[in-house]
Amino acid sequence: MQLHRTLWRLAEVVELVPETPRAKSLVLDVPEWKGHKAGQHVDVRLTAEDGYQAQRSYSIASAPEDERLVLTVDRLDDGEVSPYLTDVLAERDKLELRGPIGGYFTWEAGDSGPLLLVAGGSGVVPLMAMIRHRTAVGSEVPTRLLYSSRSYEEIIYRKELENLVARDGSLEVVHTLTRSRPEDWSGYHRRIDDEMLEEVGLPSGERPLIFVCGPTPLVEAVATALVNSGHDPAHIKTERFGPTGD
Ligand SMILES: Cc1cc2nc3c(=O)[nH]c(=O)nc-3n(C[C@H](O)[C@H](O)[C@H](O)COP(=O)(O)OP(=O)(O)OC[C@H]3O[C@@H](n4cnc5c(N)ncnc54)[C@H](O)[C@@H]3O)c2cc1C
Repeated sequence: MQLHRTLWRLAEVVELVPETPRAKSLVLDVPEWKGHKAGQHVDVRLTAEDGYQAQRSYSIASAPEDERLVLTVDRLDDGEVSPYLTDVLAERDKLELRGPIGGYFTWEAGDSGPLLLVAGGSGVVPLMAMIRHRTAVGSEVPTRLLYSSRSYEEIIYRKELENLVARDGSLEVVHTLTRSRPEDWSGYHRRIDDEMLEEVGLPSGERPLIFVCGPTPLVEAVATALVNSGHDPAHIKTERFGPTGD
């Protein structure tokens, strides 16, 4: 008998929500979805008329408590799958997916904290699922998100994060912009480095649970810096959003 999570199922696109000029959230109705943990992902498979198939991984953005499954896809202009998902897919279309996948890069409110989340670009997606889960269950685990984006316009979930921070004193979000920034921007405007982690990261003495997600170079640089500054490697979980094509 096939395991539930390895079965391909046909999800229906209920809504498409633009998040940034390049990123879109796909709100999906998945028949017989048995739930997921914050941080897990699904595989999405596209099949062309001639039978050619392409498969990619996408993190789940929604909290386990949400009724619908949400993925957020950032378009790579020269990509095979992501431009289809952001620009061609329409509401009421069907999308083939399987999952949830991954048990390591997950957080449940019972795992406690404090939490240090570090994201680059669309790497914020699984971390947002953790933040949404935390909010859904009323957790007050101290949580800090350090989030690197190319520009202000490309900050995914910017408004939602602002709203959450405004009503939750135990959640902090620090942005850094690596390419362009608004004239009145007073925040960081460089790649995440040791000094930035020192300034905004939680001290190793607080023994935070740390989740780092994004492009491979960012993940490796951040994880190395955290270990060098005394954090227990066993407390640092990483997810690399490298190419997943087959
Ligand atoms: C566990 C996991 C979870 C993921 N979750 C998400 C998610 O929530 N949202 C999301 O938008 N993406 C996510 N990704 C990345 C996603 O799987 C695809 O790699 C991405 O959408 C590009 O696919 P593509 O077919 O458009 O590009 P491809 O045709 O595969 O690649 C086009 C070009 O871009 C390069 N490239 C491929 N992937 C990346 C990348 N991630 N960053 C930079 N360059 C790349 C390739 O080397 C190639 O030169 C995740 C990846 C993994 C492994």
